[in-house]
Amino acid sequence: MGISDELRSFEATGIYRLSGSGAAFLDPVRILNTSYRRFRLVPSAYYSRSFGPAGQGGEAEAERTRASPERRKRKRKRQPKHRELNEVERIAEARHQEARPLLLSAHESLLNAKDLLEFVSRIIKEDVCVLDVESNLENNFVELGSSWRAPFCEMTLIQKSSGEDSEQGICHRTSTSLFNSIISVQENDDTEGEFQGRHYILPRRSCFLMTDLKDVRGLIPDNCNQGYNLIVVDPPWENGCVRQKVVYPTLSNRHLLYLPVQELAHSAGALLALWITNREKMWKFVEEELFPSWGIKDLTVFYWLKVKPDGSLIGDLDLFHHRPYECLLAGYVNLNKEDARGSKFKFLKERQVIISVPGANSRKPPLQKLLSEYIPGPKPAKCIELFARELVSGWTSWGNEPLHFQDAMYFSDR
Ligand code: SAM
Repeated sequence: MGISDELRSFEATGIYRLSGSGAAFLDPVRILNTSYRRFRLVPSAYYSRSFGPAGQGGEAEAERTRASPERRKRKRKRQPKHRELNEVERIAEARHQEARPLLLSAHESLLNAKDLLEFVSRIIKEDVCVLDVESNLENNFVELGSSWRAPFCEMTLIQKSSGEDSEQGICHRTSTSLFNSIISVQENDDTEGEFQGRHYILPRRSCFLMTDLKDVRGLIPDNCNQGYNLIVVDPPWENGCVRQKVVYPTLSNRHLLYLPVQELAHSAGALLALWITNREKMWKFVEEELFPSWGIKDLTVFYWLKVKPDGSLIGDLDLFHHRPYECLLAGYVNLNKEDARGSKFKFLKERQVIISVPGANSRKPPLQKLLSEYIPGPKPAKCIELFARELVSGWTSWGNEPLHFQDAMYFSDR
């Protein structure tokens, strides 16, 4: 496939396979937009990190400019480079060194894909409609869901009738409990939701349950043949940086042991993918306690390398506490390898690199398309995201704020 064919395919799918390294460059906005029929995500709202006054670099640049010389000095001092690494840091550094050649090769192949970079910086910078997300007063679902008012909260679902009716603008309105009940958008069209004066866009064939972890068992299907084939987990890991910015509440590691992963997994097996921070303490916990307790086997790592719209890394690759990449640890649950041999999926075994321009507030890139060939079990695969903040067509989203990024301010009409 020539470069222009690859770019054409990227325009349609949001995924560009980089020749040389095999890494995948993703445009999350394009991928997420495949979930909607009547709406589309506003790129500047997704990529708000990359926007800023006069397109001068957005959040990342503002953060750099805000840092006083004293703060920069303090930051430099904290780098373990200036002292002997302790035991745990040595293990973390060895992990980084193992990933480094793969990351460098992936990045080099991105820098060589000039047509892609030109296209990406154009689509990101050209979107002049910069939303004032900060001053928009969104509903705080985390707070509401834990208050005494939660059982009284109802969302109005507004569905446009198909056929002649829709041309005449006829809408069907139904009310449903917002917290602690599974809400499904069955129709083959996007649905709008109304709650406390704000509008939400719900993609067709999406489903969500908004609860706290203590009620997560409400997700378990009655029959294990109706379980999930892809389970993506993005836990609110305890981490100094998140605590400082108070973006969302965090959970201590032991809470994750209560996620009913085996009961959620399909009887024909599931691929589980867990986002994990670079802290060595988390890796040790996941490898030694969490994955064995969930029954996850055959682990593989995906590295998510974060770049600016011009293709440069968002930070120094070797900066110890602020790596410009995050990891997704994937493995299989309930999978009988013998049964799987004859079926039509590819067994995931090689480390891979995903590259994208990151969205705001540690939003992760959408994964189903990229992982689809590695998902065992019947097709179409049933997919679920645990600790989700957005809905996706064909997926179930669970967490205490799965409607966070569904606020209508992040969308425009097609
Ligand atoms: N995958 C998401 C994305 O890309 O936007 C990010 C998820 S974020 C790392 C973790 C989420 O878990 C936050 O939305 C947070 O509010 C939620 N969370 C924290 N404590 C929770 C709890 N006790 N029960 C359910 N969800 C919780």
